[in-house]
Amino acid sequence: MELYQLTAHEARDLLRRGDISATELTRAVLQRITAVEPRVKAYITLTPEVALAQAAEADKRFAEARRAGTVDQLPDLLGIPLAVKDVISTAGIRTTCASKILDDYVPPYDATAVVRLREQGAVIVGKTNTDEFAMGWSTENSAFGPSHNPWDLSRVPGGSSGGNAAALAADATIIAIGSDTGGSVRQPAAFCNLVALRPTYGRVSRFGLVAFASSLDQIGPMTKDVTDAALVYQAIAGHDPKDSTSVNRPVEDVMSELGREVKGLRVGVPKEYFGEGIDPNVARVVRQALSVLEDLGAHLEEISLPLTQHSIPVYYIIAPAEASANLARYDGVRYGYRAEASTLWEQYKRTRGQGFGPEVKRRIILGTYALSAGYYDAYYLRAQKVRTLIRREYEKAFEQVDVIAGPVTPVLPWPIGWAMENPVQAYLTDLLTISQAIAGVPAMAVPAGFWDDLPVGLQLVGRPFDEPTLFRLAYAYEQATGWGKRRPATL
Ligand code: GLN
Repeated sequence: MELYQLTAHEARDLLRRGDISATELTRAVLQRITAVEPRVKAYITLTPEVALAQAAEADKRFAEARRAGTVDQLPDLLGIPLAVKDVISTAGIRTTCASKILDDYVPPYDATAVVRLREQGAVIVGKTNTDEFAMGWSTENSAFGPSHNPWDLSRVPGGSSGGNAAALAADATIIAIGSDTGGSVRQPAAFCNLVALRPTYGRVSRFGLVAFASSLDQIGPMTKDVTDAALVYQAIAGHDPKDSTSVNRPVEDVMSELGREVKGLRVGVPKEYFGEGIDPNVARVVRQALSVLEDLGAHLEEISLPLTQHSIPVYYIIAPAEASANLARYDGVRYGYRAEASTLWEQYKRTRGQGFGPEVKRRIILGTYALSAGYYDAYYLRAQKVRTLIRREYEKAFEQVDVIAGPVTPVLPWPIGWAMENPVQAYLTDLLTISQAIAGVPAMAVPAGFWDDLPVGLQLVGRPFDEPTLFRLAYAYEQATGWGKRRPATL
């Protein structure tokens, strides 16, 4: 086994024993990146100097702790290579949002999630590709070109956190953090045989996450297994006074959930998650996964979430409306790309016209329209009302069941180019990941097997702040099946 193939917890054990050094591990991952990157294109910016300096620092901490006999008290992620989605601010490291408009933007501060991972001693190897401003499903909307799915290089790795997914599946990082506004950590995890968690809204600070749709955005872990997801979650979760929507409530110890019994857990299976638009092959694989949960002692119950079908129209009003406001700041005056022009108005127009890609423009126009005086009530206000109903529908379902389970996404990873020609069809593929964001509930993606050698994900949805139960069930399922251990043969 090569060092770059390790999970974070495996690497932690070797580092603590002194069998490997953080510098060796980091070098191994950097070399792996060099080897696979021409085919996978997971990264926008690589940071080998930062990484090697942080690794040397980590090795110093290991050496000191070893002398003091306190190695077991070191943070779990000390010396572990980390990829950061390029919509998450990193002090001194270019953060582009995969947009021409921020091509040369270097943030003066770190996102809180990055601060916390740096404090643990995680080693930043680079900034990963994404759809522009996280708007998309495939990284095809990136100004830097698409990433490739290591399971089939002619297909997309999902999105918008597709760079993370491609990097993890190619063993070109050990752990990653992404953002999820309507599925962007879960869907790419499903497309690339990985684990990802969208935490409860407010659980992880959004400070330093470049805003797309603020009432929906959450940062979450993307990893090779459930244990690593728990380690990253534990590191980044918790209150942050710099984000007024971050919730002040202690973070449970999710590590102690791993290995606990799942017997008697009530798992609801919404019939709408297996209805129209779901690829029957995806449904087949996920049904098989559900029967494993049953074998583990969980009680499956068919439930109904009839409002699921309205989640796409609600999301595609609310998210663009918030985006149109959030993206108003890119005007070429204060920072980022600036087009030359003789009047201020022309400068705004040209900067935004040249700086933003087509999908971002589409959403700014849609959102501005939905918020305009004459249409506000008909679209935005109405969407907000349906949002409340969707949230209530989940609340009611969770009176009856502990977890809701189904597919992550209705489709298998598609060939690069498809979403570009079929943007509306692509919107519809968000069907199963959007309602959880609208309701603010946590949701996890776990590898569930394959169809035609392409990965399929199982989604587990929980009550607000009940990440512990998701980790418990996901871990039990992972241990019973081991799908996540498979690695693509293409590289
Ligand atoms: N696919 C959804 C969109 O394009 C979700 C993206 C995300 O979660 N960032 O908006």
